[in-house]
Amino acid sequence: MEGREDVESVLRSAAERGIAYRRSIGSRRVSPTEDAVRALDTLGGPVPETPTGPIEVLRLLDEVGSPATVASGGGRYFGFVIGSGTPAALAANWLATAWNQNAGLFVASPAGARLEEIALGWMRELLGLPEGSEGALVTGATMANFTALAAARHAVLSRVGWDVEEQGLSGAPPVTVVVGAEAHASLLKTVAMLGLGRGRVVRVPVDGQGRFRSEALPSVSGPTIVCTQAGNVNTGSFDPVGEIAYQAHRHGAWVHVDGAFGLWAAVVPGLRHLVSGVDRADSWALDGHKWLNLPYDSGAVFVRDPAALRSAMAIGPAAYLVGSDLREPSHYTPELSRRARGVEAWAAIRALGRSGIADIVERDCRHARRLAEGLRAAGYEVLNEVELNQVLVSFGDDATTRQVVADLQADGTCWCGGTNWHGRAAMRVSVSSSATTDEDVDLSLAAIVRLAKARTGTPGPRA
Ligand SMILES: *Cc1c(COP(=O)(O)O)cnc(C)c1O
Repeated sequence: MEGREDVESVLRSAAERGIAYRRSIGSRRVSPTEDAVRALDTLGGPVPETPTGPIEVLRLLDEVGSPATVASGGGRYFGFVIGSGTPAALAANWLATAWNQNAGLFVASPAGARLEEIALGWMRELLGLPEGSEGALVTGATMANFTALAAARHAVLSRVGWDVEEQGLSGAPPVTVVVGAEAHASLLKTVAMLGLGRGRVVRVPVDGQGRFRSEALPSVSGPTIVCTQAGNVNTGSFDPVGEIAYQAHRHGAWVHVDGAFGLWAAVVPGLRHLVSGVDRADSWALDGHKWLNLPYDSGAVFVRDPAALRSAMAIGPAAYLVGSDLREPSHYTPELSRRARGVEAWAAIRALGRSGIADIVERDCRHARRLAEGLRAAGYEVLNEVELNQVLVSFGDDATTRQVVADLQADGTCWCGGTNWHGRAAMRVSVSSSATTDEDVDLSLAAIVRLAKARTGTPGPRA
């Protein structure tokens, strides 16, 4: 029977298994073996008709599930843009799970609501966003973009006398959405979800690093949302947000910044020039689970005009959802019931402090530069200006590059993804983890060069 094993020994078992997993993460393969992935099928089968003790359920999860995980919590995972989870954040997440709070309403979790408010205030200050902006914690940058663009949609339509929440989009004045040609695919997804039409966006040409060319901003009129980016997912480059905002605001447009990971550059004095002018925008989307290394899933949105955000996210009257003068988290997000993301966000920032966060960002950028230098020295071509944490490398022709990426992923020493950059295949290295050390970089570099040489012959193509 489920209740027979006491809660304490079940939680202790989970903690012990979690500790053992984290202890081994630096020495395990980064990608799981095919056998481990295949073994996940054994967790399926017919619907369980009778209970299984939780300790036994945990054993199955650990013995079959853990080997099929990707060791992205370790120091040698360079795929997508993925953080590791800092100790305080992971542990706070465990505690918050024990609390199991519904952080949608203040009355359902004063701790969840206040910690979220405090964490948001700290983030706003760390990122240099305007005082008075309001925000919310959401699942990630996709939902942050969605929430911000919903506020934008409200604001630009209300300026022409249209209440989009009441009247919908049918018959509404058209809204023009302007994006850089290198806008993240998830931003375009949110445009589609908001009924603004992925196929109707105006795409502005970009430069060789993927930066929105502000001089190419079309002269806009009527309800318009201009979406910029701080941190291109391939090159790490930043749009000239300040310049774009200056021009777009003269035409009454709303300016949004998708700064999923790049906005964190604001915390490092030596990188702050990259985000200069972002504070002129009207809304910002960012991730916590990328560079802040919060556990999944964690993102945040900020909007300069809190009324626009609240109008877009307000929940209609319902007798049992009593309003109050307190900040109700659900009035700022698409969700009602939600987990208390503020707990780990608060714990992470409290534990790291400004200098600790800056240290993660700086270290990762230094690791990225070292990887780029090492790959260049081995004779391979780095395709981007490495000014942040992203490196794009070609090992010769497209087929060879793709083959090296596949070899590396199968090898298991580290993990990098593939991409296409301005018509060429590339390996994409994103150093976003708080766990990556110099030794991880050395091991990874050696593995990449070894596998590349095996495919291209020695020495590298440009040596
Ligand atoms: C990662 C990323 C996103 C999507 O973020 P999720 O957290 O995966 O939803 C959006 N924009 C940019 C620039 C990103 O790097």
